[in-house]
Amino acid sequence: MYKKILSILSHDVICIGNTTIHRHERTVRCLSLCMIVVASGLSISIPFFPRVKIDRAKSYTDLENSFYKQDIEQLCSTVVREKPWKYIVIHHSATAKGNAARFDHYHRKEKKWEYGLAYHFVIGNGSFSGDGEIEVGERWKKQIHGAHTANIDCNRVAIGICLVGDFEHDGAPTENQIDALVRLMQYLSRKYTIASSDILQHKQVHQKCTACPGKNFPFAEVKTRLLQIASKRNSHSREL
Ligand SMILES: [Zn+2]
Repeated sequence: MYKKILSILSHDVICIGNTTIHRHERTVRCLSLCMIVVASGLSISIPFFPRVKIDRAKSYTDLENSFYKQDIEQLCSTVVREKPWKYIVIHHSATAKGNAARFDHYHRKEKKWEYGLAYHFVIGNGSFSGDGEIEVGERWKKQIHGAHTANIDCNRVAIGICLVGDFEHDGAPTENQIDALVRLMQYLSRKYTIASSDILQHKQVHQKCTACPGKNFPFAEVKTRLLQIASKRNSHSREL
């Protein structure tokens, strides 16, 4: 393209230099020459302009990744006085799909529980909330007891976390769910000084026979990851 422009330019320059050309024609050629110079300048410089940023709708991957950036401290902040939580109990929803709003509706309407959603936190699997998205229940915001085990004493002092999914009959938690759970429990256990031995699966709370959170829930892996994070932190603080 540039070769073509150069040939036109050289032709016009020669013609303009030719005094035999009529004055009007010379003016027209001058104008066309100017236009060619401006146009070619633009075509050369356009690629160097910064690209205009177009806000596209976020892809699902972006949304998924954003859940890793959920600020756990902010999520867990409450406007009321915090309870002295002593345990964390992990559950599965025993349903393939769900989210906090759906479970809240079920617990309120079907179970007739005044405070609705039995858990303090729900971690989505990508069905009705994001894969790995942590939802905060009203019970946490108001710092009131859970309704997630049949042991009332346990419910008073145990933070209930539910992962959406049926890990007894239908697969295992997603990686994003486990990541979110570890991050959440790491924060809560540190804040309320909850020992690793006081992080329990629902089936370990002996009141009612349950498989929750299911045989496919990788409890040992979750505990190991929590301990690894804690030991890293301890060694880092020793170095300081
Ligand atoms: Zn449970």
